[in-house]
Amino acid sequence: MAAQDTAYSTESIAFRSALDVIRGVEPRVADAIASEIADQREMLKLIASENYASPAVLLTMGNWFSDKYAEGIVGRRFYAGCRNVDTVEALAAEHAKSVFGAAHAYVQPHSGIDANLVAFWSVLSQRVESPALAKAGVRQVNDLSEQDWAQLRADFGNQRMLGMALDAGGHLTHGFRPNISGKMFDQRSYGTDPQTGLVDYDALRESAREFRPLIIVAGYSAYPRLVNFRIMREIADEVGATLMVDMAHFAGLVAGKVLTGDFDPVPHANIVTTTTHKSLRGPRGGMVLCDDSLAEHVDRGCPMVLGGPLPHVMAAKAVALAEAGRPEFATYAQAIVDNSRALAEGLLKRGAKLVTGGTDNHLVLIDVSSYGLTGRQAETALLDAGIVTNRNSVPQDPNGAWYTSGIRIGTPALTTRGLGTAEMDEIAGLIDTVLGATSAAPAAKGGFSKAHHVLDEAVAARVAAQAAELLSGFPLYPGVDLT
Ligand code: PLP
Repeated sequence: MAAQDTAYSTESIAFRSALDVIRGVEPRVADAIASEIADQREMLKLIASENYASPAVLLTMGNWFSDKYAEGIVGRRFYAGCRNVDTVEALAAEHAKSVFGAAHAYVQPHSGIDANLVAFWSVLSQRVESPALAKAGVRQVNDLSEQDWAQLRADFGNQRMLGMALDAGGHLTHGFRPNISGKMFDQRSYGTDPQTGLVDYDALRESAREFRPLIIVAGYSAYPRLVNFRIMREIADEVGATLMVDMAHFAGLVAGKVLTGDFDPVPHANIVTTTTHKSLRGPRGGMVLCDDSLAEHVDRGCPMVLGGPLPHVMAAKAVALAEAGRPEFATYAQAIVDNSRALAEGLLKRGAKLVTGGTDNHLVLIDVSSYGLTGRQAETALLDAGIVTNRNSVPQDPNGAWYTSGIRIGTPALTTRGLGTAEMDEIAGLIDTVLGATSAAPAAKGGFSKAHHVLDEAVAARVAAQAAELLSGFPLYPGVDLT
């Protein structure tokens, strides 16, 4: 960029320069990047798992760290020349331990699913492999006899896991059969109380006593209430299970000290996994926190289930976690929940039906069957009106995991943008207007389609204009001017 750009902010110059460099090689990619930020600026983003990372986090990912191989852990690499990677990996782990009060942090997982795989195999390593090695009197699996190795492999495949059911809000990595977690483990699910929609700890305890799992997984993608991790640990201890908490969705609320005491998983769980890009507002990636007894197993994540770490992303995790340790982040985390409650109240007062009747966290699950719609129809109708959400199953969903009967909405992204409770009420009004004006399209073979909807174009256009007007008061990345 030339000297005439001095009128632009540092952030603008950084992103404009990057786009110029990319445009010189493949202009269509530069255009797609510019188009993405334009879309994100215009859309009302209510996807509960998305956020807007800071310019510092975004810029940390585009550099020479991307080129470096660094298998191993800090100070013990299988490649030479890793001193700078060691610096950023150690910083990310140090910030993670400080932000979450964890004994150990492993920041290499490339995503949440990878973090969960590392956690599962760490527990298997600690509780199945280590005793087998000790029994055989050898130090590592390569030293086992063929017979002992065959037995160990059979034992790996014969372990039990108890996780939250997908339609109760659990994640597909918590034992859903199409995911590897469901194929690896003999899995059983716990659900929620059909009347209240809340986790039924007594039923869970009964199930754990009978099933005696190796691992109990707590955590969720679509449960709008808090989970009591003290009770979960009591249940795990009673049946000899390891408690794993997947806090991918609510890590930002833990970092921001909105979830404390019984609702903070870190002091209660043996092992905690998370993504870094949802409410935590970092780069796309995963992380594992654990107690000292699991640390050596977790640190073998690469090569156990991961390839070489992504140093540029670990560097960005360090930056994001430094941000999450600041007092402003606690204010942000509280605002996420305040906004979520305001959104729920706004919807309830307009007659919407919400799973569990409200929310205590960052997300709200609307049961759109009360509007006579499937989740799929509601999702596309809202998108027609510039509101980005995603469809989600509700407990005992009659429409299955594809069409669904729910819409999941969350407030981390719009809270980053600066919207507050008054705007949430307005957004509840927009959502209700769209869903109220939408109907199921007639199906070709008679009856009604589960996929297609009818929404008056004028209503969609009016709501989209209102959403754009609302957002214009809260510019996204105000310091970044690409015009
Ligand atoms: N765990 C939970 C609870 C999630 O909600 C998700 C993502 O939606 C994941 C894990 C997987 O994260 P990723 O998409 O980064 O693999």
